[in-house]
Amino acid sequence: MSHIKSKNTSIEMMVRRRLFAMGYRYRVNYKALPGKPDIVFTKKKIAIFIHGCYWHGHDCGSRYAHTSQSNKTYWGPKIERTKQRDQEHIKELEAIGWKVIVIWECEVRQDFENILSKINAYLQKND
Ligand SMILES: [Zn+2]
Repeated sequence: MSHIKSKNTSIEMMVRRRLFAMGYRYRVNYKALPGKPDIVFTKKKIAIFIHGCYWHGHDCGSRYAHTSQSNKTYWGPKIERTKQRDQEHIKELEAIGWKVIVIWECEVRQDFENILSKINAYLQKND
Protein backbone atom coordinates (compact mmCIF):
# COMPACT_ATOMS: atom_id res chain seq x y z
CA MET A 1 0.00 0.00 0.00
CA SER A 2 2.90 2.34 0.63
CA HIS A 3 3.54 2.04 -3.10
CA ILE A 4 0.20 3.66 -3.88
CA LYS A 5 0.73 6.34 -1.28
CA SER A 6 4.08 7.40 -2.67
CA LYS A 7 2.61 7.48 -6.16
CA ASN A 8 0.00 9.86 -4.91
CA THR A 9 2.63 12.07 -3.35
CA SER A 10 4.65 12.14 -6.52
CA ILE A 11 1.75 13.31 -8.70
CA GLU A 12 1.18 16.05 -6.16
CA MET A 13 4.83 17.05 -6.44
CA MET A 14 4.65 17.07 -10.25
CA VAL A 15 1.82 19.57 -10.15
CA ARG A 16 3.33 21.66 -7.37
CA ARG A 17 6.70 21.98 -9.09
CA ARG A 18 5.17 23.07 -12.35
CA LEU A 19 2.86 25.61 -10.76
CA PHE A 20 5.83 27.00 -8.86
CA ALA A 21 7.86 27.23 -12.08
CA MET A 22 4.92 29.09 -13.65
CA GLY A 23 5.32 31.70 -10.93
CA TYR A 24 2.51 30.68 -8.64
CA ARG A 25 2.94 30.75 -4.89
CA TYR A 26 0.67 28.71 -2.69
CA ARG A 27 0.29 26.86 0.57
CA VAL A 28 0.44 23.09 0.73
CA ASN A 29 -1.52 20.63 2.89
CA TYR A 30 -3.38 23.56 4.32
CA LYS A 31 -4.67 22.34 7.67
CA ALA A 32 -6.89 25.34 8.37
CA LEU A 33 -9.37 24.22 5.70
CA PRO A 34 -11.73 21.22 5.52
CA GLY A 35 -10.02 18.22 3.99
CA LYS A 36 -6.56 19.79 4.21
CA PRO A 37 -6.35 20.68 0.49
CA ASP A 38 -3.09 19.79 -1.25
CA ILE A 39 -2.57 23.20 -2.84
CA VAL A 40 -4.20 26.39 -1.62
CA PHE A 41 -4.26 29.92 -3.04
CA THR A 42 -5.36 31.91 -0.03
CA LYS A 43 -5.96 35.26 -1.76
CA LYS A 44 -7.92 33.76 -4.62
CA LYS A 45 -9.68 31.36 -2.25
CA ILE A 46 -8.98 28.42 -4.52
CA ALA A 47 -8.24 24.99 -3.13
CA ILE A 48 -6.86 22.12 -5.17
CA PHE A 49 -7.11 18.47 -4.27
CA ILE A 50 -4.96 15.96 -6.09
CA HIS A 51 -6.51 12.57 -5.68
CA GLY A 52 -5.12 9.14 -6.35
CA CYS A 53 -7.63 7.22 -8.48
CA TYR A 54 -7.49 4.13 -6.31
CA TRP A 55 -7.89 5.52 -2.82
CA HIS A 56 -10.41 8.15 -3.78
CA GLY A 57 -12.49 5.75 -5.82
CA HIS A 58 -12.26 7.49 -9.19
CA ASP A 59 -14.65 5.86 -11.61
CA CYS A 60 -12.37 6.44 -14.58
CA GLY A 61 -11.48 2.89 -15.54
CA SER A 62 -7.80 3.84 -15.81
CA ARG A 63 -5.16 1.42 -14.65
CA TYR A 64 -4.51 3.67 -11.65
CA ALA A 65 -8.00 2.99 -10.36
CA HIS A 66 -7.75 -0.71 -11.07
CA THR A 67 -8.09 -3.10 -8.20
CA SER A 68 -8.38 -6.83 -7.84
CA GLN A 69 -11.66 -8.33 -6.63
CA SER A 70 -10.18 -9.35 -3.28
CA ASN A 71 -8.75 -5.88 -2.76
CA LYS A 72 -12.13 -4.40 -3.57
CA THR A 73 -13.81 -6.47 -0.89
CA TYR A 74 -11.20 -5.54 1.65
CA TRP A 75 -10.70 -1.85 0.86
CA GLY A 76 -14.10 -1.11 -0.64
CA PRO A 77 -15.75 0.30 2.50
CA LYS A 78 -12.71 2.43 3.28
CA ILE A 79 -12.68 3.83 -0.24
CA GLU A 80 -16.42 4.56 -0.06
CA ARG A 81 -15.89 6.51 3.15
CA THR A 82 -13.04 8.44 1.58
CA LYS A 83 -15.25 9.35 -1.39
CA GLN A 84 -17.99 10.50 0.91
CA ARG A 85 -15.62 12.61 2.98
CA ASP A 86 -14.17 14.15 -0.18
CA GLN A 87 -17.66 15.27 -1.19
CA GLU A 88 -18.33 16.70 2.26
CA HIS A 89 -15.08 18.65 2.23
CA ILE A 90 -15.92 20.18 -1.13
CA LYS A 91 -19.36 21.23 0.11
CA GLU A 92 -17.89 22.70 3.29
CA LEU A 93 -15.31 24.66 1.35
CA GLU A 94 -17.86 25.99 -1.12
CA ALA A 95 -20.13 26.96 1.75
CA ILE A 96 -17.41 29.25 3.11
CA GLY A 97 -16.75 30.83 -0.26
CA TRP A 98 -13.93 28.73 -1.66
CA LYS A 99 -13.58 27.40 -5.16
CA VAL A 100 -12.45 23.82 -5.37
CA ILE A 101 -10.53 22.04 -8.12
CA VAL A 102 -10.18 18.27 -8.01
CA ILE A 103 -7.38 16.80 -10.08
CA TRP A 104 -7.14 13.09 -10.62
CA GLU A 105 -4.07 10.94 -10.85
CA CYS A 106 -5.09 9.63 -14.28
CA GLU A 107 -5.31 13.19 -15.62
CA VAL A 108 -1.89 14.08 -14.25
CA ARG A 109 -0.31 10.92 -15.63
CA GLN A 110 -2.02 10.82 -19.00
CA ASP A 111 -2.69 14.44 -19.80
CA PHE A 112 -0.25 16.52 -17.76
CA GLU A 113 0.17 19.53 -20.07
CA ASN A 114 -3.54 19.77 -20.67
CA ILE A 115 -4.43 19.64 -16.99
CA LEU A 116 -1.79 22.25 -16.20
CA SER A 117 -3.11 24.67 -18.78
CA LYS A 118 -6.60 24.14 -17.39
CA ILE A 119 -5.42 25.00 -13.88
CA ASN A 120 -3.51 27.97 -15.24
CA ALA A 121 -6.55 29.25 -17.11
CA TYR A 122 -8.70 28.85 -14.03
CA LEU A 123 -6.23 30.70 -11.82
CA GLN A 124 -5.94 33.52 -14.37
CA LYS A 125 -9.69 33.80 -14.69
CA ASN A 126 -10.07 34.05 -10.94
CA ASP A 127 -7.36 36.59 -10.42
ZN1 LIG B 1 -8.80 8.35 -12.51
